[in-house]
Amino acid sequence: MFDATLQQRLDARNNNFLLRSQQQIEPNEGMFINLDGKKTLSFSSNNYLGLSQHPAVIKACQNALRKYGVGSGSAYLVCGYTDLHKLLEDKLAEFLNYPRVLLVSSGYMANTGIISTLFSSQDEIYADKQCHASIIDGCLMSRATTKRYPHCNLATLEKHCQRSAPNKLIITEGLFGMDGDVAPLDKIHRIATKNNTLIMVDDAHGIGVLGQRGRGALELYNLGQKEVAILVGTLGKAFGSYGAFVAGSALIIDNLIQQMRPYLYTTALPPMVAAASLASLKIIQEDESRRKNLHALIRYYRKCAHQLGMKTSNSNTPIQPLVLGCPQKTLEISRQLGLKGLYVKAIRPPTVPQSSSRLRITLCAEHTRSHIDFLLESLSHAIKIS
Ligand code: PMP
Repeated sequence: MFDATLQQRLDARNNNFLLRSQQQIEPNEGMFINLDGKKTLSFSSNNYLGLSQHPAVIKACQNALRKYGVGSGSAYLVCGYTDLHKLLEDKLAEFLNYPRVLLVSSGYMANTGIISTLFSSQDEIYADKQCHASIIDGCLMSRATTKRYPHCNLATLEKHCQRSAPNKLIITEGLFGMDGDVAPLDKIHRIATKNNTLIMVDDAHGIGVLGQRGRGALELYNLGQKEVAILVGTLGKAFGSYGAFVAGSALIIDNLIQQMRPYLYTTALPPMVAAASLASLKIIQEDESRRKNLHALIRYYRKCAHQLGMKTSNSNTPIQPLVLGCPQKTLEISRQLGLKGLYVKAIRPPTVPQSSSRLRITLCAEHTRSHIDFLLESLSHAIKIS
């Protein structure tokens, strides 16, 4: 009976072109990976600055591996918290100009943990509809009344904020991971202030990439801890490492340390991973060239796509979605690109809304103009024939 139910679920997904599958990859050089033994150029990674392969990051990781071993050995509050974790928290706080930072073992844990620890059933949360699944799950776990406003729709957000509740929170991504646009944080801040509402920004995709100094979406609007009470970042994207963090006041961080279940009851990040993130942070702070190169590539991609008459979204970031609508067509174009030696993952519901299946093209600092030429030529051919 149970097996039949499970099989039916898979069949239903498959029949709707929504079956998910694992794709085994092997690194090759730079932005290339091996897929089924074939050298393939990837446009699907969130390693936006190419730091996961940076020699200084690898060396820092190796040095820490020799000294600390592989795993941290326990939860943060038992004996898993080392000088490297503390140093990374302090350096991130300094970089982002926040009073305190707390490392968390993943972005998924950070969002579910922060929201469900700090907010409860009497409170209200207003979250952008395009927010990541971990934010939505955190809202559900908190039992707060949650209203999801249409993507960046400020009129609806303002209406929600006029409601009354002991604590009200707006949650948005900074740079949206699926659409590549940036939340209008200045306007969101104005609405929040007028209506006595706190703001939480998950800038998993923006930190390291946006702003002259790489401080993310908040830097673009010149906002800080006074305006955005809770800032979440991840270390598995632009940092090329793994893990996540939350930045906030001492009061917020001290509360999380006492009660946040995904912080308390999980093994601390391996110290070598904290060391790698420290090395990445140093590069993000000291070497603007990767960010500059990435933004030049983004401009180049958009210019060439326009010249080819291809649809682009209103994104000036490394995430350049090509929304095709139908999952079957999206899968087919992704397959056609695969035949040419290109890897662009098809993203389908429920990760994105119905009828908005897309190729999520991500650009990285290690791509070149000729990589982009190759992608766009292949893409426009694949669109024509499918
Ligand atoms: N927030 C956003 C906006 C994300 O895109 C992701 C990962 N895709 C996460 C949080 C989760 O981060 P992690 O992979 O570290 O769990």
